[in-house]
Amino acid sequence: MKVLVINCGSSSLKYQLIDSDTEESLAVGLCERIGIDGRLNHTPKGQDKVVINQDMPDHKVAIKMVIDALTDKDHGVIASLDEIDAVGHRVVHGGDKFAESVVIDDEVIKGIEEVSPLAPLHNPANLIGIRACKSIMPDVPGVVVFDTAFHQTMEPVAYMYGLPYECYEKYKVRRYGFHGTSHSFVSKRAMDILGLDPDNSKIIVCHLGNGASVTAVKNGKSVDTSMGLTPLEGLVMGTRSGDIDPAIIEYLAKNMNKSLEEVMNIINKESGVYGLSGVSSDFRDLEAAANEGNERAQLAQEVFAYRVLKYIGAYTAALDGVDAIVFTAGLGENNALMRGMICKNLGFLGINIDKEKNSIRGQEQVISTPDSKVSVVVVPTNEELAIAREAVALIK
Ligand code: ADP
Repeated sequence: MKVLVINCGSSSLKYQLIDSDTEESLAVGLCERIGIDGRLNHTPKGQDKVVINQDMPDHKVAIKMVIDALTDKDHGVIASLDEIDAVGHRVVHGGDKFAESVVIDDEVIKGIEEVSPLAPLHNPANLIGIRACKSIMPDVPGVVVFDTAFHQTMEPVAYMYGLPYECYEKYKVRRYGFHGTSHSFVSKRAMDILGLDPDNSKIIVCHLGNGASVTAVKNGKSVDTSMGLTPLEGLVMGTRSGDIDPAIIEYLAKNMNKSLEEVMNIINKESGVYGLSGVSSDFRDLEAAANEGNERAQLAQEVFAYRVLKYIGAYTAALDGVDAIVFTAGLGENNALMRGMICKNLGFLGINIDKEKNSIRGQEQVISTPDSKVSVVVVPTNEELAIAREAVALIK
């Protein structure tokens, strides 16, 4: 089967066509500047990127252009639209309505709309993509995969905030967690690599990208995760603060003479390692700056590593032990320095890192030594493949 995986933002749309039999990606691409002017970047497997500048007034036009690119006689990878068996959509927030992936119908669309207030920047954009695909490809079944779904197995003790109960009952304020597709994918893969028993395993997954989260996975199920009602909670991230004293928000608003929205913008977009270092949100830049003696860049890396370390400690307690720690996403897969910094203080768990093995980038690798009491493993994530697998499982 061939599955078109769509990740739709308000002015952009990422896509990937996946052959589910070989699990190969046949083409990847990105529509940018939808509603502004429009640019399509399309890369067929094994070929150079093609850039097409053409007006994209809305997402429907963008999807049409994606289909044209996929079926083009020069840079296409399929003969016609009929070869697409399913469309898999990434949706950020499923609230407590969706604990697993679902085949799209009117009821599902209504459900996504209902939980949209929880992710006002993301869910409406995801819905635009769903509707655009439905209107261009009415006969191709669609599946929605939620970032939050994997974490719906959390117990109230992990997802409740210490707020008046009414906030939960009336306003659905609780911890939901994100990056679920990735946490699920890499925790399963880690079990395979390490030969762990899916029904008797304790894994901590560190998804460290621009957005970053840690999840405690017990017997294949998420029991706790560092992101909350929104992706702002938890780790220090590229530009997000992660956990802070909530009183800081009012304090900054008063002292900086800023509105609530302005302070939230600072916390979401001007904080994290970017705000701490004043250099960049990209850890490659931080490492380079720190090597040149930039103390704030060094501090930003240390604060990041320390927060990850604290979550690993907390989740080891939540799981009552740990069999494996998994690193994934841009930073987790590629940044040996950061992995080393995080693991340096995990000797108390009996963790030993093999320095040479830890120097790998972007490939599966056990980086702990054979005598390490807890295995540490790098597993590249592949959210698109995970979405394609879900789509195939549901459509079949
Ligand atoms: P996003 O959350 O935006 O998907 P990524 O998973 O791409 O983020 O992670 C971004 C971080 O990963 C950056 O800080 C960057 O330094 C790091 N990163 C990504 N790719 C590489 C690479 N090939 N080599 C080193 N670092 C990388």
